[in-house]
Amino acid sequence: MIDIKEAKELVIKAGHELSETGLIARTWGNVGARTGPHSFVITASGKSYETLTEDEVVEVDMNDLSYSGAIAPSSEMKVHREIYLARPDVDFIIHTHQEYATAAGVMGKGHIWFDKDHGSIGPGVLCADYALPGTKSLCKKIGVAVRNASGNAVLMKRHGAVCYGRTYEEAFAVARDLEEGCGAYIKAASPMLREDLDDFGEGDGSMFLTNVQKMEGTRAVMCCDKVVMDYLSMKMDLPAYIDDYAQLIGPSAPFVRNDKEEIMKAAAKYPAVLVDGEGVLCTGKNGDEIAVSMLVRKNCISYFAASSMGKAKKLGVKDAVIMRYVYVSKYSKLEGDLQK
Ligand SMILES: [Zn+2]
Repeated sequence: MIDIKEAKELVIKAGHELSETGLIARTWGNVGARTGPHSFVITASGKSYETLTEDEVVEVDMNDLSYSGAIAPSSEMKVHREIYLARPDVDFIIHTHQEYATAAGVMGKGHIWFDKDHGSIGPGVLCADYALPGTKSLCKKIGVAVRNASGNAVLMKRHGAVCYGRTYEEAFAVARDLEEGCGAYIKAASPMLREDLDDFGEGDGSMFLTNVQKMEGTRAVMCCDKVVMDYLSMKMDLPAYIDDYAQLIGPSAPFVRNDKEEIMKAAAKYPAVLVDGEGVLCTGKNGDEIAVSMLVRKNCISYFAASSMGKAKKLGVKDAVIMRYVYVSKYSKLEGDLQK
């Protein structure tokens, strides 16, 4: 276990370093450390990693998940507790929604074997079965996978990964090596991903916003990454394959003709709109447009990774609707709090 003061400092440092490497982005994922036989710290819910303060790293009681202070710990604290209970030797946990590991977790494999050892991660990784975020069922499934795993990471199907170790350095190396291993794995499975992933493109989408949207402070970017353009060439809607896409965008984003009026109409309703031959129009406030664009990209990568195994299976529509609903309720509450 790690002394509380040192644990908080390490979690903040981890937040910075993980943001810099792109392993965590925005407020997705969380980081924590064991501080006693019955306690651990974890990052607060909905806080940015770049500006994380000691108050936003919350100590939680392992027995009843209680905490003191006004700032709530991440709702995924139950998953952290499950890992500490399953692995008494683990003192540091990183939960990420990292791109390649998430896409590998949509391929429907219970166990992924790499073609070679990837540093600290070894020759392969287990993938926990799917359950909705924040549920007891998800905790249980991750607990089973962590108990059966030989290495220090487990993939969370359609969601991300948990990486852990005795120290921060160990857990960080696991997250990095896992991304490398999963990147190599999905590229080997899908030749398209091998060529497309480093080809980025972004355009200005502001001309497709209505005057009302502009007044309300909505911004727009056109995501034109090669992997996204390849999906677009199939001229289909883009359903959710991963949880965070369902939360921020919904069960599906529509495909529309390259017609200004049609695009504006769709953009008033959907945060992501697939525009024929042009790109994916991503809209939002306070940087959400960038988050939407990142999720469109990750969702397309997940689709192609899953397609390499046969027909890609999308997220259940009911599950996607529930996640979108929970996200919107939580987000509007946060916005309301900010205005108070
Ligand atoms: Zn998560």
